[in-house]
Amino acid sequence: MREEFTFGPLPTRVVFGRGAVKSVRDEVVRAGFSRVLVLSSPGHAESAERLAADLGELAVGVHPHAVVHVPADVADRARAAARDLAADGCVAIGGGSAIGLAKAVALDGPPFVAVPTTYAGSEMTPVWGLTADGRKRTGRDERVRPRTVVYDPDLTDSLPVAVSVTSGMNALAHAVEALYAPDASPVVSLLAAEGVRALTGALPALVHDPGDPVARAAALYGAWLCGTCLGATTMGLHHKLCHTLGGSFDLPHAGTHTVVLPHVLAYNAPAAPAAAAVLGEALGTDDPALALWELAGTLGAPRSLRELGLTDDDVDRAVELATADPYANPAPVTADGLRALLRAALDGHPPVGG
Ligand code: NAD
Repeated sequence: MREEFTFGPLPTRVVFGRGAVKSVRDEVVRAGFSRVLVLSSPGHAESAERLAADLGELAVGVHPHAVVHVPADVADRARAAARDLAADGCVAIGGGSAIGLAKAVALDGPPFVAVPTTYAGSEMTPVWGLTADGRKRTGRDERVRPRTVVYDPDLTDSLPVAVSVTSGMNALAHAVEALYAPDASPVVSLLAAEGVRALTGALPALVHDPGDPVARAAALYGAWLCGTCLGATTMGLHHKLCHTLGGSFDLPHAGTHTVVLPHVLAYNAPAAPAAAAVLGEALGTDDPALALWELAGTLGAPRSLRELGLTDDDVDRAVELATADPYANPAPVTADGLRALLRAALDGHPPVGG
């Protein structure tokens, strides 16, 4: 156990359960909102309309225009819609894209209630992101934490198996990096281990039966815990690398996390034995990196960066970008080490220790 740590109480109110979406109205009232703008991705417009109908006179509009990585012009239009409608609160329903848009609005506009429908975990963090001129800027600001997060596993029944799997692996990455973060704590480690157990138990069951209600609830529960880990700690090499690959090479967010995670864990494990031990216990193995790589295979998830669009020629540039600024990581991040890691991930080879 760490002998020194700092721990703030968990900052976000959570309502969890099948049918919990029906409590959004109560949560909106509790937050003090009386004019609510409902935000979603275009694909979720119908759920957003349904939610607005449930809110009745409290809803003043639906804005189903969220786009992945929150382009600045999309954020500007959402802020303008909130202003024009004199909204004093938003409800974001959907994945990280809808929640990311609500965060962009909350930065200098009304706060929000989040209703997540994927396992990305953004709702539990104070991290916002905005993309302009091909560059994604991120920052931390407590104003972007939702007032309440309503987790309803029923809303995830429609999440396609392939998205469920990569989104779930994305969530696991938060727990893995929280375990060796410079600001880790024993409580966060407990959350991470429980999150890993819940998700790795649920994902194979979801592949077998995507409508399995017990597995859907367990996966969302695990995603909440892993998202909490993300919001409570500073991420290292894995998140830095995935941010680079997504931002500069246009690789898909969750799929990239899925492929990269076992390789970064193998790279970091020798320098983070306590984290590796917690993961080993949660996964029932003495090689958690290999276990995650095998899990991705069992789940039919992508295992190579090549299948996601990266090429041999991109590797050196990715290494350069990912080593440009220093950041906390248990193992030293060297160009040679990163090149070997990316080559293995490019071709879908099993992870090799750092
Ligand atoms: P997403 O929100 O774009 O959703 C992925 C796809 O799944 C979309 O097409 C969406 O319409 C669809 N979808 C969502 N829920 C569904 C459901 N229940 N049924 C059917 N389809 C559904 O992607 P995501 O993976 O949830 O989030 C990725 C984004 O979130 C990225 O921009 C990432 O950078 C950001 N993110 C931010 C943080 C943070 O702390 N700020 C944390 C994690 C992710």
